[in-house]
Amino acid sequence: DPRIVEIASTIREVPNFPKPGIMFKDITTLLLDHKAFKNTVDLFVERYTGMGIDVVAGIEARGFIFGPPIALAIGAKFVPLRKPGKLPGEVISEKYVLEYGSDCLEMHIGAVQPDERALVVDDLVATGGTLRAAINLLEIAGAEVVECACVIELPELKGRQKLEGKPLYVLVESH
Ligand code: IMP
Repeated sequence: DPRIVEIASTIREVPNFPKPGIMFKDITTLLLDHKAFKNTVDLFVERYTGMGIDVVAGIEARGFIFGPPIALAIGAKFVPLRKPGKLPGEVISEKYVLEYGSDCLEMHIGAVQPDERALVVDDLVATGGTLRAAINLLEIAGAEVVECACVIELPELKGRQKLEGKPLYVLVESH
């Protein structure tokens, strides 16, 4: 799909961010390009329309950029999965391990009903720990996670292995 080549060309690489040795993939330059941003959303909408998805769960923070337009277009609700202490209501929490230390995602209790079909959205999958935590939260709530969708995958970090066969759809692989 020629749209994917164009999307890939709008993603900026920032060396040594947020720390030395890291090559950060920056999707803010994709957002500046109206056509690339629209094509990104459209590609996901084309894939998920008619799949009976009830819930789009977006991961803080960049899953909050791509998730809502997808949810609106496919007729699903949007559920934010947030960093600890941000959601005001009662939450369930899921800790996950990072390269150094750990982090946590939270979801409001009652946001998702048992047996609802969910799609998890984020900008990028690296080690897969964040997506794994998101899947766990949704499954604890009784939802069925149909697929995870990201704009970018760093395949060298083998994030797919952590998803244990749960489908992962990405637009751009970055080596
Ligand atoms: P993982 O848990 O190791 O797969 O890391 C994925 C999470 O870290 C996602 O929420 C991404 O937004 C964020 N992340 C890691 N590396 C990058 C990057 O190069 N650009 C943008 N986000 C990143």
